[in-house]
Amino acid sequence: MIYFKQQNQRKVQKMDKIKKLLSIRDNTLNTKYFILLVLLAYIFSVAIRYIWVYQFGGIPQFMWNHQLMINTNDGYYWAEGARDILAGFHQPHDLSPVYAPISKLTALLVKILPFSFETIILWMPSFIGSLLVIPIMLIARVFKLDILGFCAALLGGIVWSYYNRTMTGYYDTDMLTIVFPTFLLWSIIASMVENRYRYLLFIPVFIILYSWWYGSSYSLNMAMIFIVFLYVLVFERKNNLGYEIIIFMLISIMPTFWWLKIGILFLLLLAFYFKKETLSKTIIFAILGLSLIVVFFMGGLDPVVAQFKAYVLRDTYASGVVNNFQLHYFAVNKTVREAGRIPFTIFADRISGSTVTFILAVIGYLLLSLRYKAMWLALPMVGLGFLALKGGLRFTIYAVPPMALGISYLIFFISKIFNTFIYKETTLKIVKAGFISLATIAILYPNITHIIGYRVPTVFSRQEVSVLNKLKHIAGREDYVVTWWDYGYPIRYYSDVKTLIDGGKHTGQVDFPVSYALTHDQISAANIIRLDVEYTELGYKDKFNENLPQEMKHYGYKSINNFLQALKSKKFKLPKKTRNIFIYLPDRMMNIFPTINLFSNIDLSNGQELPNNFFYQTRRFASQGNILNLGRGIKIIKNKGEIQIGRQVLKINHFVVTLYNKKGELIRDIQTIDPKSPINVIYMKNYGRFIVLDKKMYNSMYIQLFVLQNYDKDLYKPVILNPLAKVYELKR
Ligand code: MG
Repeated sequence: MIYFKQQNQRKVQKMDKIKKLLSIRDNTLNTKYFILLVLLAYIFSVAIRYIWVYQFGGIPQFMWNHQLMINTNDGYYWAEGARDILAGFHQPHDLSPVYAPISKLTALLVKILPFSFETIILWMPSFIGSLLVIPIMLIARVFKLDILGFCAALLGGIVWSYYNRTMTGYYDTDMLTIVFPTFLLWSIIASMVENRYRYLLFIPVFIILYSWWYGSSYSLNMAMIFIVFLYVLVFERKNNLGYEIIIFMLISIMPTFWWLKIGILFLLLLAFYFKKETLSKTIIFAILGLSLIVVFFMGGLDPVVAQFKAYVLRDTYASGVVNNFQLHYFAVNKTVREAGRIPFTIFADRISGSTVTFILAVIGYLLLSLRYKAMWLALPMVGLGFLALKGGLRFTIYAVPPMALGISYLIFFISKIFNTFIYKETTLKIVKAGFISLATIAILYPNITHIIGYRVPTVFSRQEVSVLNKLKHIAGREDYVVTWWDYGYPIRYYSDVKTLIDGGKHTGQVDFPVSYALTHDQISAANIIRLDVEYTELGYKDKFNENLPQEMKHYGYKSINNFLQALKSKKFKLPKKTRNIFIYLPDRMMNIFPTINLFSNIDLSNGQELPNNFFYQTRRFASQGNILNLGRGIKIIKNKGEIQIGRQVLKINHFVVTLYNKKGELIRDIQTIDPKSPINVIYMKNYGRFIVLDKKMYNSMYIQLFVLQNYDKDLYKPVILNPLAKVYELKR
């Protein structure tokens, strides 16, 4: 017995020694100065986000309505929702997110603030995202490390990945997806460390706000509950408050009305607080067990499993069985960069600005957690951030707050070295302050360098927006604009129309018809577009979600390939036209045209890829006498009308030169050299671009309508012919 006691004592002594060694001296400021310091960190974070505005502001190409445009595609989705909330109406099935928290918040801000809609969506990420400095500083304050918190906040507010996702113009939900969980972390740490009930009600408030704001918040919330559970088991077994925190968290994540949850929690808080001396463990465990059971039966674990599958296991197969037709579509995640694995150096840069600072931050975080065990509670955020290595870039931002605190701690810890050889108190203070300032600047440096070099253009250029603005006055709100999904959101925002696919709706299944239309002949394109639009609307009514099998069924086809073959005829009898359809063909689609082709260059009956198509475009070429070098081993031999591709030399089929005349009309000069050759060459003179392409690509609707303006007058009518984006109306 005595022996064990001694051993225990020794253990405690050892822990105390470690704690003493790891302790650092910092200040606890009075509230007034603390708030001042928070404000300073906040202003710094917002000010840094002015750099991009300074670089891009006032350049006409990036401006619309006297304001810089936003630089994230998804932002236009939320902007559409906010616009419709303010208008008070929208169209059924127009996919406008009028229910989205970010759209609601935006609409509210537009109503109460004296700034334009464009100004508000531009600046929201800067002003709201920078709020992250507050919970970072609050967490440090729990440990009485105010200056350390300030240094961490300076870094956390602007660190690489966090900046990228909350920079000015990056109008997306990211602006609060880290702020809320960091506040949640603070409220848990504060309740645990200070062992006081006053922080307990903050926990559900931040869980509920976070869940409301961000649909995918569930996994992190669950992970937080799990870590609190572990923490209580290891360190706070005897403390009722620990279990009460878990109960509060469990009730907060239940999928039911927020006011109901807050009501229950408020009553529980009163009970816990006033009965804290007499409340037995049995009752607490009973409530805990009950909450666990309720969460479990309300489907508490399903979302976690689903997310895990999507990001970590990567379901890549996309197909469905409808009406006995099984069609094998192209799996989209193959082309989406976000969900891809990333190399370690990029991962480290994103989290801490550089590989060195990242490693220091990890060491710092570990030491910090050894000294202040409550910091282990940040592990879910660290873990989710590190999941980026497997699950993709989007996750890195979660690790930012704990890593920022970690590296700041390390700086303070290292500064203890000066204690060993500087004995004069004032000198020591000055030297330490100098060291800490310099080290903080040193870790900020790679991040600020990144920010200065991170010149993200706006999503669209002014000219493209002017086309969409014109289209808004031509097209009705129930009309469809057909184009690749990349342009879906901005088109719906600027033209207030409907679209088939967009940044959120782009599975292989819905992408197929659009891809097919853009990359196939004009007749097939016209037919498949009309069918897809009418069946999309019909699908909302008749509750089917895969159009092609439904179309095959209605037209009595058993084979998808026969059905697609039938679409090649003008005689194909289309369904009744319920609305107008416009086709939006921007110049920028040229860069992704081969990718677009992948989505329909597939045999739907078995999922086999069809032979690759040849498509090459370049704006870099050099004339060397009789040879025109287009790069990548492709050369045109001018006097022979031949083209060399790798080692193969072929005659050219069509050689086309396009040029805008003084009136802005497109003139095209087509020479046919060898009508049997599979390869065509187009020189778009005003664009300074050569395109080398095979027959299918040459005859594709996009190339014929956008590049050559060679449209079938029975099928299409040009509506807007801007060199940067052309719009046709479907006449079928
Ligand atoms: Mg609408």
